[in-house]
Amino acid sequence: MARTFFVGGNFKLNGTKESIKTIVERLNEAKLAENTEVVLCPPAVYLDYANTINKKSPQVKIGAQNTYTKASGAYTGENSVEALKDIGIEWTILGHSERRTVVAREDDELVAEKTKFAIDSGVKVILCIGELLEERKSGITLDVCKKQLLPTIAKLTKEDWDSVVIAYEPVWAIGTGLAATPEDAQETHKQIRDFLKEKLGEELSEQIRILYGGSANGANAVTFKDKADIDGFLVGGASLKPEFVEIINSRQ
Ligand code: PEP
Repeated sequence: MARTFFVGGNFKLNGTKESIKTIVERLNEAKLAENTEVVLCPPAVYLDYANTINKKSPQVKIGAQNTYTKASGAYTGENSVEALKDIGIEWTILGHSERRTVVAREDDELVAEKTKFAIDSGVKVILCIGELLEERKSGITLDVCKKQLLPTIAKLTKEDWDSVVIAYEPVWAIGTGLAATPEDAQETHKQIRDFLKEKLGEELSEQIRILYGGSANGANAVTFKDKADIDGFLVGGASLKPEFVEIINSRQ
């Protein structure tokens, strides 16, 4: 079964109303490859605005960068999936390495809980995994990815996986300009898919999209084109620039 190419844009904590308008309008006007799904994830403050000016739905959707395990209550600063749905947002990133290691020390169990809660509430998830540089150097990349995935695998039903896209993002490649080579990324993606096969069965493992993230840009995206287990990209820095359109169209 062919997996639909997927490109997510993670704006992180960047953007103003003006710059987000420019990005969304650029996509409104661009010719985007058919059979490609795009999800733009601006900072939470701009979700409603971005969703209102996005004219490319259903091909382009707006997503959050994080959600919590509760719909409401005394959880200062968190994003509610119910609130997202209230304003028409259908996607969220979860488990980004910056949340795991920089801003919030999120662990695998919490990421799994958030993932299950989001899906049960009707919000789809871009689930990020990936190893640190020391872990790669120690040769434990796959062990790290398995460890990050296991609590989520334990919590989700088979049907839940229809609402998940995995983003393999080696942490050493994020924001560094040092993307993994297409060959290295493909090797890890294949190993991740084999692990999913072992845990979830062949049919489901063939349906789950696995994105590559880490310094993807307009020039290198096309070099990943013929890699069988790379089903798209999660893009940080380059999603703020005109070259994002080239990444979206890199499978043409
Ligand atoms: C990201 O933040 O998910 C990411 C991949 O960032 P960058 O493309 O800037 O490396």
